[in-house]
This record gives sequence, structure tokens and C-alpha cells, in this order.
Amino acid sequence: MSQEFDITIKNADLGYSKRAVIKGLNLELRSGFIYTIFGKNGSGKTTLLKSILTGLPLMSGEIAIGGKSLRKIINSEKAKIMAGVFTYRPHIANMTAFDFILFGRYPFTNWMGKISDKDMSRIETIIDQCGLSELKDRKFNELSDGEAQKVQIARSLAQDTPILLLDEPSAHLDMANKAEIFNLLKQVNKMENKTVLFTGHDLQFSMQLADHFIVVNDTKVSSMSKDDFISNKVYKQIMSSEFLDFDPVTFSLKYKST
Ligand code: ADP
Repeated sequence: MSQEFDITIKNADLGYSKRAVIKGLNLELRSGFIYTIFGKNGSGKTTLLKSILTGLPLMSGEIAIGGKSLRKIINSEKAKIMAGVFTYRPHIANMTAFDFILFGRYPFTNWMGKISDKDMSRIETIIDQCGLSELKDRKFNELSDGEAQKVQIARSLAQDTPILLLDEPSAHLDMANKAEIFNLLKQVNKMENKTVLFTGHDLQFSMQLADHFIVVNDTKVSSMSKDDFISNKVYKQIMSSEFLDFDPVTFSLKYKST
């Protein structure tokens, strides 16, 4: 498998101002796999994604893609390598869902921003794959949170990048939409060999979708196979509560009343 888009993080401290949220991070994310990031709220999952995608200034260390430091990759080049969706919803007045998704093609348009027939047909395919045909002409800011989330995921797919980063992609979705989006992520991973890195709290879906688990806990990050995540009971670090019962066979959590 090509190493052109492997992500390598070395000796990195990630955080804000003087406060490191993640310390001494060494991580290798190989092209073409699906990774899920697990951790408690506030542990630093989003910070890790932001550091890779938006170049949140590193407190120390280095992040490289295909051996090239992120600091040396200009934004227009980066937009052809990585696309991402974060949990906040952008406020965009007077733009249809279709135009918002079309915006994802900007790394491919010419210097005048001209959209080609190829761009248009790519967008139509993605709208269809994401089940958005019915709402493509509606205003983005009038969509429900779940609808807007699917539109944002479609926009990130329209960018046609080898790496996709998603912060809680299923946060606002009902079960059927959640399954559809996870299935779509699996498809683009298999068919287009895309690396997918996503955060979330849904262990059942993650167990079916992800190849590897990345666990963020108390400023430290560890990477492991999903089997090790279960057999070494790593889930206990993240999901332990006197009010929860975890079933390691079905990977489901049950509320335990006291
Ligand atoms: P998670 O995604 O795991 O819930 P985050 O990465 O969002 O966690 O946050 C990790 C820690 O960094 C939290 O303590 C949060 O309050 C803090 N944090 C997040 N964003 C900022 C910011 N812009 N400035 C300062 N601290 C932040």
C-alpha cells in the first residue's frame, strides 16, 4: 500500500496556550485504514483531529503526511489531501444544500472558480450516495441538525481527498441515518482506499467499522486493534460508571439503576 498519505506524529504536545491536552504523542496512521478515536468528553479527541486538519499550532513535535511536515504543506495542497467535518454547524445564509456541497469542489476548480461538467456529475453522485436528493434545493441554514450533518459529510466527500477526518459524524443522526453514513464511510474506504479517522462514542458501530482504535486518556494516546480494545478491557478506562453495564459480546451499554 502507498505510504504517500501516511500520517506520522512524533513527540507532539497538543493543546492551547500553555496547557497541553495531549502529551508526548507518537502515532502512525497508515493509508487506507479506518481509525476511530475513543475517549471521555474533554480528553482531547477534537484537539487531535484539529491538530492534523487545521494545523492547530503544535506545542512541540511534528506532524507529517507522507513524510512531509504539515508546516511545509500549503493550504491549497492540504485541501487536496484532507477534508474534515467538525461538530459545529457553520452559519451560512442564502446557500442551498447543493451549493454548499459544490463548495467542496473548490480545490479542483480553475483560478476563476469555474465548475466543470465533471464537478457537477461528481456532486450529483455524492448527493445520491448520501441520500440527499430530496433536500438538495433547500437552504442549508433551514435544515435540521441531522440533515445539515449529512450535507456537511457530503461536502467533505466532494473534496475527493485521500484522507477524511470526522468529529462525531453520527452525533445528530437517527439510527437509520447513522447506519447509512457509517456504511458510506466503509464504502469510500474500500472503493476509494480513503483513510478515515473519526471520533465518536458509539462502540457498536465503531466495532463494525473501524480497523484500529485510538484511545485518548489522561493526556496519553494509545493505538490498538479493536480486539485488544475489548480483550484488554481498555473500554473500562473510558466507559466506567456505576450507572453503566457493558456487555463485551454485543458491545452494548446498559443503564444500571441503583
Ligand atoms: P474532546 O473532543 O475529547 O471532547 P477537546 O479536544 O474538545 O475534547 O477538548 C480537550 C480539552 O481542551 C478540554 O479540556 C477543552 O476544554 C479544552 N479546549 C478545547 N478547545 C479549546 C480552546 N479553543 N482553547 C482552550 N482550551 C480548549
